[in-house]
Amino acid sequence: MKIKNALYIFLIPLTIIPLILMSVIALKVGKQNVTEQSTEALVGFAETSGISVSNFMEGQKREIKIVSQIQRIANNLNAYKNNVATDETQSLCIEALADWVASNDNYLASFLLDENGKVIACHDGDHIGYDFSDHSVFLNSKNSDEVKVGTIEKSFLTKDKDVIYLSCPVYTDNYRGILGLETTLDFYNSLVKGIYLGETGSSLIVDETGRIICHTQEGFIESEFKIDIRLDSILTDYKSGLVNKQGTKNYSLNNEKKILGYYVIDEMNWVFISTQKYSEINQPIKTLENTMIYIGSVTLFFTIIICFFFIKLFMKPINTLEDVFTKASIEGKYIKCEIKGKSEFAHLSTGYNKMMDTLKSKDSELLQNYQLLETEQQKTKFLAYHDSVTNLLNRRGFEQKMMEILNNNLSGAVLHVTLGAISNLDGLLGFQVSDSLFKNVSNRLQKTIDKDDVIARGNGTGFYIVRISPNEKIEQFLNELQKLFDEPIVVDGIIFNVKLFIGISLFNEKDNKFEDIMRSASIAMYEARETNQTSFRYYNESMQHRIKSNYDLLNVLDEVIMNNELSLVYQPEVNNDNEEVIAFEALMRLKSKKLGFISPAVFIPMAEETGKIIEIGKWAMKNILKFAKDNFVNNENFQYVAINISTVQLAQTDFVDTVLEIINDVKIDYEFVLLEITESMLMSESKANIEKLVYLRSLGIKVALDDFGTGYSSMQYLTELPLDILKIDKYFIDEIDINEKKQGVVETIIKMAHHLNLKVVAEGVETKQQREILKKMNCDIIQGYYYYKPLSEKELDEKKLL
Ligand code: C2E
Ligand code: CA
Ligand code: CA
Repeated sequence: MKIKNALYIFLIPLTIIPLILMSVIALKVGKQNVTEQSTEALVGFAETSGISVSNFMEGQKREIKIVSQIQRIANNLNAYKNNVATDETQSLCIEALADWVASNDNYLASFLLDENGKVIACHDGDHIGYDFSDHSVFLNSKNSDEVKVGTIEKSFLTKDKDVIYLSCPVYTDNYRGILGLETTLDFYNSLVKGIYLGETGSSLIVDETGRIICHTQEGFIESEFKIDIRLDSILTDYKSGLVNKQGTKNYSLNNEKKILGYYVIDEMNWVFISTQKYSEINQPIKTLENTMIYIGSVTLFFTIIICFFFIKLFMKPINTLEDVFTKASIEGKYIKCEIKGKSEFAHLSTGYNKMMDTLKSKDSELLQNYQLLETEQQKTKFLAYHDSVTNLLNRRGFEQKMMEILNNNLSGAVLHVTLGAISNLDGLLGFQVSDSLFKNVSNRLQKTIDKDDVIARGNGTGFYIVRISPNEKIEQFLNELQKLFDEPIVVDGIIFNVKLFIGISLFNEKDNKFEDIMRSASIAMYEARETNQTSFRYYNESMQHRIKSNYDLLNVLDEVIMNNELSLVYQPEVNNDNEEVIAFEALMRLKSKKLGFISPAVFIPMAEETGKIIEIGKWAMKNILKFAKDNFVNNENFQYVAINISTVQLAQTDFVDTVLEIINDVKIDYEFVLLEITESMLMSESKANIEKLVYLRSLGIKVALDDFGTGYSSMQYLTELPLDILKIDKYFIDEIDINEKKQGVVETIIKMAHHLNLKVVAEGVETKQQREILKKMNCDIIQGYYYYKPLSEKELDEKKLL
């Protein structure tokens, strides 16, 4: 439930309920008090009035007693008894009676009766002989000495007026007469009428029969009213001791609730009653009730208003907090909470703001970290798709780009560009130089391409270019490219004559197999490479046949050992000083029953790619060493047999074990074994590879670096390699007799190798001149057709080399 609603629900009843309870209690108590007071007042009125009636009657009684002793009356009675009455005694008596009646407005008549109830004298001098013998006056006082009061009767004079007769005896010597007095009810009526009991109040006097003697309302006729009590019951109850002399009673008159107070007037067997309607008695309560309802309503109204304002005031900071929290959570913003003052909410607000500040600073820290991470990620992503040296796309990035091009159904050409051997010694001057060289090449290539074209760096010395343009334009592009690379690249003052071999694969909107396009470009590039000069080849169908034969070759390689199709030839190496054969390089030959003779330059790379080289290499090593053990070791001048080792073989973790196992099997001395490795396996910077060679060398096994100068290695690096022999590639030897540049390079290599305590083998020496120049340069060993081609066992035997 919302706090606001809860406050309304609890606060308003909390103030209202006590108010209502208090009002109800006050009303109840008030009502009781007012009723009590009113009834007390009613009883009080009845009592005082009753006592007044009683006193009034006492006075009259005393008076009649006194009058009965008046001499003139007694004398007249006495004379009457003795029959000596005279007009004088009679008139004196009448005078006394008349004076008495005249003395009081309530007295209507007075008379003197003889012992038989006959009027002797009357105040008006008349009615002599009127018979009262059946009358209450005579009957009441006939045998009593007391003053007697009669009931209400009709006046004997007027016959219709209600009156009360008082009587008492008059004594003369042994004779009793009776004195009677007729009094009106005027006193009682005036008494009853004189009492004011509000609007609905009235007073009445009831006699022993329940008859109403007098009533506030004149002409009140009892029978017309439906009253639920008998008025004479009060007197009878009193007489029987059931109720007090005075008290109250509730009753209803004409279905209206009334209350009465009564007082019993003993002497006359009357009851004085004061009565009032309940509604009037409760009138002050009604007013109080109304006032209270009014005050209650006003209070309720103000309470609600005060509650409303209080709740609003109380809720304001809560609402502010709620707003701020909601906003902060929905918009994810750092919103400050502005609650001022010293309340708990202000504290909460300050706390919240502090929390927000902390969050904000943490968040910005997080954001910074995130940005850092993002840049790192971008870097990593960039590196994943780019070459770190040239910043060009790498093979992966290129593939992605190429896929986009193919998916967009564009046409163009993919150029697979590789660099030929660098014809400069400076190519050996380290990775920094070779990196710079590649950057230079990349810059030159980029100059030639259009903005829609794509350029990427492939593995090793390769680049890929995608030309999105019609075929004619490619020719033009190739010419530009050739021109650009006619000029040598200069890095750190070193001159590089870069040869480019370019394979071109055209594709159109229908060709969309990336792998096919790339393979075609590579096949064409290999074709171009065969020329050994900057050149380009378009991929064509005949090359496809070559691919086909490559597939066949793969199958041939699978069973090459089993089918006995492999053989070995040995090319002698000649000591340059005395021209004696001191060593042999073992070279593999493959004569397939299916495909005929296949050059090792073709099947060795393929065997490397398929991993077949491991098996083939093992086979070769075993047979070479066996052959050497059987044929060369006894030769006096024999120093070693050279075994070509592929990078793939060297990279095997069990390479050392394999070599040692074979050597131990064959039981040939370590010193006769020379392993030929190429620069490329050292370019891969494999420490493990070098460690393996270091170990084998420590056993006495020799190591030679083959094809030196064709790659991009470093002379400094050379010092760290475990080497015995450096073999200068045929490329350097080829024009050594005519190309001074090459001569210089070879001379420097030899000097440097000697400096590093390495023997130098010159490969591919074909002419006398070449041999002589190399002799002058102190090249240690010559290998080449000038002396010997690679020879079979039979040929070796023929040449007496075994
Ligand atoms: P390589 O190790 O540089 O071997 C020297 C190559 O030069 C041989 O070619 C050899 O016949 C050729 N050669 C030697 N003197 C002359 C010369 O005066 N004129 C000319 N034109 N050529 C000369 P080959 O036998 O065709 O071998 C080619 C390459 O195949 C080798 O180059 C080597 O890298 C690889 N190879 C050959 N046999 C094996 C082998 O058993 N194992 C491994 N891993 N590679 C081998
Ligand atoms: Ca070799
Ligand atoms: Ca070689």
